[in-house]
Amino acid sequence: MSIDRAACEALDRADPLAALRARFDLPEGVIYLDGNSLGALPRAVRDRLARVVDREWGRDLIKSWNTAGWIDLPGRVGDKIGRVVGAGPGTVLAADSTSVNLFKLAGAALRANAPRSVILAEAGDFPTDAYVMEGLADLAGAELRLVERDAIADALTEEVAVVLLTHVHYKSGEVHDMAALSARARAVGAFSLWDLSHSAGVLDVRLDADGADLAAGCGYKYLNGGPGAPAWLYVRRELQDRIRSPLSGWLGHAAPFAFEQGYRPAEGIGRGLCGTPTILSLSALDEALELFEGVAMSAVQAKARSLTGLFARLVGERLSGFGLGRHGPADTARAGGQVSLTHPDGYAIVQALIAEGVIGDFRAPDVLRFGFAPLYVRHVDVFDAVAVLERVLAEERWREPRFAARAAVT
Ligand SMILES: *Cc1c(COP(=O)(O)O)cnc(C)c1O
Repeated sequence: MSIDRAACEALDRADPLAALRARFDLPEGVIYLDGNSLGALPRAVRDRLARVVDREWGRDLIKSWNTAGWIDLPGRVGDKIGRVVGAGPGTVLAADSTSVNLFKLAGAALRANAPRSVILAEAGDFPTDAYVMEGLADLAGAELRLVERDAIADALTEEVAVVLLTHVHYKSGEVHDMAALSARARAVGAFSLWDLSHSAGVLDVRLDADGADLAAGCGYKYLNGGPGAPAWLYVRRELQDRIRSPLSGWLGHAAPFAFEQGYRPAEGIGRGLCGTPTILSLSALDEALELFEGVAMSAVQAKARSLTGLFARLVGERLSGFGLGRHGPADTARAGGQVSLTHPDGYAIVQALIAEGVIGDFRAPDVLRFGFAPLYVRHVDVFDAVAVLERVLAEERWREPRFAARAAVT
């Protein structure tokens, strides 16, 4: 029997995370299924930013590096992220962008694992990951080896210095087995480096327990830190004194304010810093992370699976015959917090949906991607979104010429 709206309302009443939605400022009349690209605005961020600007910056000026604890903020925010990704205190730092952190970590791994000089990564992953590895390989005289997903385990040989993998694939949502691949990398003496951009804040990630060596991820997706929020990096505690960032900036120095000649890396995770932290956006991310306080990531993952499962089921029940396909695992329990559909006119369909108040996104060449952020998306939103999609397809609204024009950001 097909599931109705009342059944979705019942699921929401039983949802242990339901109260969190009210802590977000969500626009009326919009169903937001793109929190995997830009998380929604947590209400408390507005006041926090006003306070940081007016009091900490405006009134206390440079004193705030000490009095407001600005100088320690990358580590404090890092520890909050650590609780979300199963990493102990002192193993995560909030800094820079994901792209930059991948460069720092892979560069450090190459150096620590010399004379090995192969960087292994998955073909078809999020482009910046391979682009950054190309640049690093070029600079370091290393070789970038891109292999297909099912060839990764076999390609992990004793030539490999570091293997970079995206835990949840940005387009298909497919999840790698972090424990198994980290163990396989360790067995051949390679460092594992995980990109958790589409995992942090939605899956029950366990970096320490699963034996990952290094990791990085975004602050602006499921962590809700705002556009261009600082990213983060993780270095397994036992490896921290072997890891030296190739971006050896002054704030990663053991004594930045001694203004010494020559670089000496700080003890611990602090050596992952490069330059001055972006206090305004770091403060926004710090406040946004309060939403995860006291929340079990197992409950977050369970709700993500409930939402993605519901979406896939409703699409299967109600949208056959419109030429939609599925991209990624048929079983949503093997995916992250997203479901991807395919259609040759996917771009126009996504634009027509947005015009109707359902925001998803499009990924070339034909993928309609829907993200289900468990902190603020409800089961009724999923139900209503599928109803809108059904109308857009049945009435062929996406054929309107205005939906064909491509914007710079899709
Ligand atoms: C979103 C995303 C990034 C973004 O990198 P930036 O440096 O923040 O632009 C990187 N990798 C993956 C897998 C992503 O999904």
